[in-house]
Amino acid sequence: MTPSIPDHAAAVAMSPWLATARYHLDPAPGGLGLVQDLLNTISAGVPRQPDLLNDLDSAAEWAQQAVAQWSAATGRPAPDVTLDPAGLRELRIFRDELLDEIEARLHATPESGQPATGTATQALTGSRTAGATLRLDEDGSVQLEPAGAGAELLVSLVLAALFEAQLADVARRIKTCRNPRCRVAFYDRSRNNSGVWHSVRVCGHPTNLRAHRARQRQAD
Ligand SMILES: [Zn+2]
Repeated sequence: MTPSIPDHAAAVAMSPWLATARYHLDPAPGGLGLVQDLLNTISAGVPRQPDLLNDLDSAAEWAQQAVAQWSAATGRPAPDVTLDPAGLRELRIFRDELLDEIEARLHATPESGQPATGTATQALTGSRTAGATLRLDEDGSVQLEPAGAGAELLVSLVLAALFEAQLADVARRIKTCRNPRCRVAFYDRSRNNSGVWHSVRVCGHPTNLRAHRARQRQAD
């Protein structure tokens, strides 16, 4: 028998998404990996990782790596993204809004794993706007081209990826871990989209055990 490398291990080995790689997670497919990676720049996980958007140096390093990886994942040319202090502030606000909206959507989703309603899906993009261009290709297909510069371009890239994911009905698979002390963003590959932990071993088992002990104490 030939030993085979598990798919997820291969994906992690190939994953240069800087923020997501800190949590040893499979990246979301295609451009959606950028959405996940932006969410994972927050100070998250157990033990806590630093916030990559905390200062201009680490944010610039993250942005450069992220657009390069976005380019590799989508097969499109890597745009030049230069962040200034004002742009970094905007990017941080956008990231935190997006995180809040995703968490609001997850809390609105019933435990049964039912798909989120239309209003919850719309909440993903909130009231944030960004420029983008629709382009008709020679083969008749229409492409959504992100536009802008600096942080504006990053927001456009993220919203375009979310829009394409909505069309493919996979945007709702981007989730944050249910453990409030963790909040790591993961891509739910479960068949019925019922995953709630970024890692069952790291966050699911300990949280369930704590809840079980609390119920036992109450029963006593
Ligand atoms: Zn977690």
